[in-house]
Amino acid sequence: EIKINTKKYIEYIEMAAKKIEASKDYVTELDSITGDGDHWVNMNMGFEKLVETKEELATMDLGPLFQKIGMLLMSTVGGSSGVLYGSAYIKAAKTIGDQKEMDINLLCDVLEAKVNAIMERGNAKPGCKTMIDTLYPAVTALKEALEKGLNDYDALQALKQAAIDGMNSTKDMEALKGRACYQSNKGAGHIDPGAVTMCYQIEVLVECLCK
Ligand code: ADP
Ligand code: MG
Ligand code: MG
Repeated sequence: EIKINTKKYIEYIEMAAKKIEASKDYVTELDSITGDGDHWVNMNMGFEKLVETKEELATMDLGPLFQKIGMLLMSTVGGSSGVLYGSAYIKAAKTIGDQKEMDINLLCDVLEAKVNAIMERGNAKPGCKTMIDTLYPAVTALKEALEKGLNDYDALQALKQAAIDGMNSTKDMEALKGRACYQSNKGAGHIDPGAVTMCYQIEVLVECLCK
């Protein structure tokens, strides 16, 4: 069974930072086609900041850690994604409260709190061609897997696979939110960059928890 404490979560953040860093060309290309080209820079700045702050983060309990991550992302990640990720982490911090470890059920509640915060803050839902199209089906798949009684590892694989499928589903969508709305073809034919970076974060989380 998985257990996530502060140390483990920081290990995940460092892995995610590396994954984001390595995705520069692809993510920048996608946001150049569908948006304004800065999504990688925005996300990379945020994760760099988290890694720079890791000694301080390591001293915090999980709830305050999420609160702090939210505030750091809100202030360092530019663009729409900064506000959305910031709100997601701050809402998730409330779900965690003073619990010092997450099991898979709490992780599921945390991911659900995140997607709800993003949907509220951005006034969007699945089908709008955004990061929500990765996270929402992923959370739904995790919930279903846990309800079916799958073990932690199989449930995490379901989370990851649904994230990948969700990301890919944005390719043919016409954007209803975000800058891709302003493109003449509404981004159709290209995967949404925010859906990609969200997927990377979920893939790395699963990798970190299953190793
Ligand atoms: P900006 O569009 O302000 O330049 P980014 O490039 O950092 O910000 O982020 C763009 C991504 O943010 C999009 O690819 C999309 O996934 C996501 N996004 C944009 N608007 C919304 C929204 N209203 N709700 C959810 N996600 C959104
Ligand atoms: Mg952008
Ligand atoms: Mg921008």
